[in-house]
Amino acid sequence: MHLNSIDKIPSFSGLSLDEQLVSAVKQMGFEQPTPVQQKAIPFALEHKDLLVSAETGSGKTAAFLLPTLHHLLTLPSKQSGTRALVLTPTRELAQQIFKHCQQLTEFTDLTTGLITGGDDFRLQQNMLRRNTQIVIATPGRVLELMEQEIPNLSNLEVLILDEADRMLDMGFSEDVLAIADSCNAQRQTLLFSATLTHFGVIKMADKLLKNHEIVALNTLHDGHRNIEQQIVLADDNDHKQKLLAWLLQNETYDKALIFTNSRIQADALRGPLRGQKLRVGVLHGEMDQKDRNRMMELFREGAVNIMIATDLAARGLDIKGINLVINFDVPRNGINYIHRIGRTGRVDELGLTIALVKHTEWNLMSGIERFLKQKFKHRSIKELEGKYKGPKKLKASGKATGGKKKVEPKKAAAEKVKIRHRDKKNIGKRRVPTVKPDVESTQA
Ligand code: AMP
Repeated sequence: MHLNSIDKIPSFSGLSLDEQLVSAVKQMGFEQPTPVQQKAIPFALEHKDLLVSAETGSGKTAAFLLPTLHHLLTLPSKQSGTRALVLTPTRELAQQIFKHCQQLTEFTDLTTGLITGGDDFRLQQNMLRRNTQIVIATPGRVLELMEQEIPNLSNLEVLILDEADRMLDMGFSEDVLAIADSCNAQRQTLLFSATLTHFGVIKMADKLLKNHEIVALNTLHDGHRNIEQQIVLADDNDHKQKLLAWLLQNETYDKALIFTNSRIQADALRGPLRGQKLRVGVLHGEMDQKDRNRMMELFREGAVNIMIATDLAARGLDIKGINLVINFDVPRNGINYIHRIGRTGRVDELGLTIALVKHTEWNLMSGIERFLKQKFKHRSIKELEGKYKGPKKLKASGKATGGKKKVEPKKAAAEKVKIRHRDKKNIGKRRVPTVKPDVESTQA
């Protein structure tokens, strides 16, 4: 009999993973590997370096954890120090990966630790001294510990950079390179990024990866087929607030995530929405870690079903049941837009995302549509019809409501939007890499 005929339906056992890991994924309810898992795991099991682009919510965490755990289980080591290190941009994401890793290692003896800022330094030192095998960390705290010569990365077997594009945007480039420099040079490196169009990511891959394979599953332009994307025009922020409250009261959703561009705006929305008896929480980077954790827990459990968040706080969050994402402010660029809408429509779920767009944001929104090569559906709320209907010329042609008239070349040029990155003030003196939105590289 042809054994391959059985393997045609992708399965976790077909990936030749350790039985303990296969049992864990079964227990987690994963029936078959997602596309990124199917493509990346076999390469990673050959201990090759990898550069992987995958949509948020595609199952990428298990795509890098499973082969790493398999390697640690099947090639036990007598040497001291950390065996696998995952670097990720935010504390929330680190906690999420940590939990995922604990679930995947449930039937094994492998030990996992979490190293993030805002948590007890001494406990982390002790954890590292106990030779915890897998460490999930944010780069800043690892560097602080490195100054005390605590982490022993000289025998590291696998280094994973998760959400590398975001780590670079947040100014972690030098930190990541310094950490990679202190790791065993023979290690395997797996670099995961939402996009390969990021110049900084391409440069980092050049520096850190050896003879690597590329798994480019998504391009930015594939679209998120299970997410309906809408635009509602607004006159000003007051009008937006009314629209927001109406949508939250009239749409059907389990959990909703509202994005603002600043923490001040996030805080400002909480009171009025609570006044409408909505169960609202706020999550932003200026909150202390305990409050952030508490908020996340309330949202996860559903005690709070509406979360107002800034990009930093919401990056990479994987919370079940988010089926509505509202952009109260239009995000500053297409990449942030993708990350925001990626919080909904996770594996096999449907999602709705609505951007509230006022006249000063029209060009930015059009730039995002062009960047993604998509046109979003325009919707108006009858009860709260505003005056703003889009730019005059487009309004006359019906373009603002989905019409088809061509934009004159001059107008199109005027609409050209510069893709900007995070506020320099948030980045400190670190370098801001530029995105080249039209280059989709698959070159090593
Ligand atoms: P990630 O992209 O790693 O953040 O994963 C997004 C969500 O997909 C998480 O809730 C995972 O638990 C879930 N997930 C990962 N792999 C699978 C799979 N093979 N089948 C079903 N769900 C999965």
